[in-house]
Amino acid sequence: MPVEQQARLDPYMAQIITYRKSGLSLNHIIGCPLDCGYCVRHFWGDFEHKTPQLLCSTSDAIDSLLTHPAFRPSTTPIQLFNKATDPFLPGVKPHLFQVLQALDAEGLDNLVLIITRFTVTAEDMAMLERLRHLRLTLLFTYSGITDPRIEPIAKSTITTTSITTACAHKSRTKVVLYWRPIVPGWNDQPETLGHVLTVGRQADAIVFTGYYHKQENDAYLRDLGVPLPYSEADYHRRKIMPAELDKRVVTAWLESGITTPLFRKTSCGVSYAHQVPDYNGHWGVRELCDICPVKQRDLCAADYHDPDRTEFEAVLADLGYTSEYLLDEGRIWTHGLGEQRRYAIQHTLRHQIWELDQPHMLHAHGRSLTGHQPSDEELQQFNLIRQQFETAARFDDD
Ligand code: SF4
Repeated sequence: MPVEQQARLDPYMAQIITYRKSGLSLNHIIGCPLDCGYCVRHFWGDFEHKTPQLLCSTSDAIDSLLTHPAFRPSTTPIQLFNKATDPFLPGVKPHLFQVLQALDAEGLDNLVLIITRFTVTAEDMAMLERLRHLRLTLLFTYSGITDPRIEPIAKSTITTTSITTACAHKSRTKVVLYWRPIVPGWNDQPETLGHVLTVGRQADAIVFTGYYHKQENDAYLRDLGVPLPYSEADYHRRKIMPAELDKRVVTAWLESGITTPLFRKTSCGVSYAHQVPDYNGHWGVRELCDICPVKQRDLCAADYHDPDRTEFEAVLADLGYTSEYLLDEGRIWTHGLGEQRRYAIQHTLRHQIWELDQPHMLHAHGRSLTGHQPSDEELQQFNLIRQQFETAARFDDD
């Protein structure tokens, strides 16, 4: 992409490496023709950018990833092309394979997440299976949406064919059916839930989640005449997945008899597939774990521990961060660190690291509060934590 065009990009879109909840994320190609109506690129004014373009060379991007201050061999989960394109588009795939081969040649065994809804062939799978070290997961976004205004690709069988192909040829590569977004009225009818579960039958895991409801994609979808069950009052930085909808999805899965495990969190599905404890430490948010296989719960439970101040400060020092924090009966509260730093700590400790200004509430964990109204008691408890945090911070200043 020409330099002058890059200079006009939203700063977030222009960032080649960002640290996200699911991993350190490499995105040196932006642009996508698939036109999913709910696409997050609406948020950064990049939706009209349809042709994938390089922001830098792939070898420079690989260097930037490996020299990123928060990158740690084995520990840091990696995501490739998950912000602004689809990694299996014809113009992107050669770069995806170049990155994978380069990382694998370094002997790195980090978890690598690749999210796609596009064509994955038997030859692609053969290439992925030749990797020797990386622990790779393909996450196929598939939601059973049939309205082509919301997902033009829904008119085809591209995604379901790719899932079948990937499942037929996988061995060391793991496959997750990424069931998102689930939105009332779009794809929550019992037959649609049943259909998606059937598609996930061959996968290693199914991960379900909701929809980012923000002004930008709301305006786009309403212009197309797409009905949305949420209002302006529901705009939120987190995805919407009301408790009632969560319950219906879980019930549909239980009643389906499908044995593929179901997860609420991406990292849980990926960790399960690779038989490791959840790298985001969701075991500390136990209400998420009620649907998880017993063997995986045992793995997470055995791995989980609450760090003390010495351990926490050692991790801060290793990453070069400073922060006010409060260790409160297993909860770690920070303030002002920023998402990217919090996730680096979280993945190092495999323990949730929370931000005081964006509290997590029971059963709404990591989700918008639409459909999860916190009780007075929960709000009161949180106010107490805020007071404790401020007192501890004052104490530390002394
Ligand atoms: S036990 Fe809980 S934290 Fe671990 S993978 Fe299962 S759902 Fe996630």
